[in-house]
Amino acid sequence: MPYTHRVTPGSHVKLKDHDAGETAGLDKAAGHARFAELNAELDTLQEEMYAAGRNSVLMILQGMDTSGKDGAIRAVMANLNPQGCRVESFKVPTEHELAHDFLWRVHRVTPELGMFGVFNRSHYEDVLVVRVHDLVPRDVWKQRYEQINAFESLLAANGTIVLKFFLHISRKEQEERLLAREQELGKAWKLSAGDWREREHWDAYQEAYEDALSRCSTDVAPWYVVPANRKWFRNLAITETLVETLRPYRPSWKQALEEMSRARLAELAAYRSQRGG
Ligand code: AMP
Ligand code: MG
Repeated sequence: MPYTHRVTPGSHVKLKDHDAGETAGLDKAAGHARFAELNAELDTLQEEMYAAGRNSVLMILQGMDTSGKDGAIRAVMANLNPQGCRVESFKVPTEHELAHDFLWRVHRVTPELGMFGVFNRSHYEDVLVVRVHDLVPRDVWKQRYEQINAFESLLAANGTIVLKFFLHISRKEQEERLLAREQELGKAWKLSAGDWREREHWDAYQEAYEDALSRCSTDVAPWYVVPANRKWFRNLAITETLVETLRPYRPSWKQALEEMSRARLAELAAYRSQRGG
């Protein structure tokens, strides 16, 4: 049973129908054990994808402040080969970036074949924060859902495996996480008054997320709702979805690697026989 909820293309997402505290009947110990297994498999899959060079992965993480995007990256990628990974974090656009279309800064850093790319926030901010705060006219952001779908289908057609995770936390959980940061000086560096300010727009954000997930979940670039109130379950759910998505590619990667191996061996044999003869 999948631990994330895959948004069926064309369906209408209602986040209130999703329990952010879901743990699929697992306790923390069982969850950690399952995570370790799947994470080891992910490591193997990444190694093969990297060597085969036929596909890339683009994993997009979105979620409200404190939803655990950074924590998920640290946990899920901890065992991967850093040479094959790249994380891109999208901040408030610079003036230079704003002078281009909204996908420009994103397209420049999409993963090349073989690479495992992670976006910490993404082009979805351009239909989330931008919409909630009226940073561009409605007519402009309205067109972006279709533009995003076209962009992601272009990436998919070129071998990129696109997965998009929405880290779903409850409003209460966010409040607790924000308050916890105040309690410890060691955690207070993560605080920002802006997080409390953004929290006042909770409902507008949830609505914007519902639209983004509903309009932009496609067969080639699906959205997954991740129950994220429990950090261990969040990490498990993301890892499981990654493994389930990548596993079917394995035979083609192995085949590519075998072909490469045979070609290299033939090259070496030819070299040796030339030298000997
Ligand atoms: P953080 O992820 O905490 O480092 O914060 C990054 C900030 O950049 C968040 O407040 C985002 O909403 C903001 N941000 C990212 N992309 C955009 C964008 N395209 N337009 C406006 N704000 C953005
Ligand atoms: Mg933040």
